[in-house]
Amino acid sequence: MNHHDDHALASTGGNSGDDIDRRLHGSDDDQAWADLLAPTRRRFLRATGLAAGGLGLSGLAHAADAEASSKAALGDPAFRAIVPPRDSGTSPWGERTALEPATRPASVRPRDGASGLPDTPRPYTDIRSYHAHVYFDEDTYAKAARLRQWVIERFPVELGNWNLEPRGPHVTPSFYFGFTNDLLPVVVPWLQLNSLGLTILLHPNSDDPRADHLYYTLWVNRSQPVNAYGMKRPGEPGAPPIEKILPNIVPTRPLET
Ligand code: ZN
Repeated sequence: MNHHDDHALASTGGNSGDDIDRRLHGSDDDQAWADLLAPTRRRFLRATGLAAGGLGLSGLAHAADAEASSKAALGDPAFRAIVPPRDSGTSPWGERTALEPATRPASVRPRDGASGLPDTPRPYTDIRSYHAHVYFDEDTYAKAARLRQWVIERFPVELGNWNLEPRGPHVTPSFYFGFTNDLLPVVVPWLQLNSLGLTILLHPNSDDPRADHLYYTLWVNRSQPVNAYGMKRPGEPGAPPIEKILPNIVPTRPLET
């Protein structure tokens, strides 16, 4: 179907050649857009109840005609207002939210970095292992499956389950594999070249899983939210032990080099 056919099918008036030609090349559509975007005209359209359905260019052309037949439009049950009537009542948040103080939220930074700069760097040897969390959705799961297969053929990792729903701090479907520190110089460049465009979170496992997820992260491609704010800080009651990696995969292929 070409461009002209598309428009001819979309228009609803008498489809004379002149009519179509005017819609495609004349100024009627331009005027309809200008009218719709002008504040005074918008108020008028709202008052007359512009039809919500079929709001293509032909719909706009009808809108331009509405001024001349506003009385008919108001009485036409086929017209439905785009803007619904305002609800009555009061906000569930009350009427005084504007008076709330601006309070500093709890920091995601670890330890003394919670307020101000730390005095010394953390030893990198605090990192015991790594997790790679591969995120996907209903449109990208096939890429995730391909990447997962590639990984388990090549790396001695601890492979987790398919998570088809948010789990823990991960807000979209995901799977994870854990690996030991010695693999990091290979896994990072390998994932850079083989991510298939998926968003991948790489986080270390230190004694502070909350900071591991919120503050110590590496990302392949775009990052996405990680809801680890509820995780315990080190020393808090219920804080978990440091994550261990117990590989459950034996590679079957040599790594391409
Ligand atoms: Zn993890």
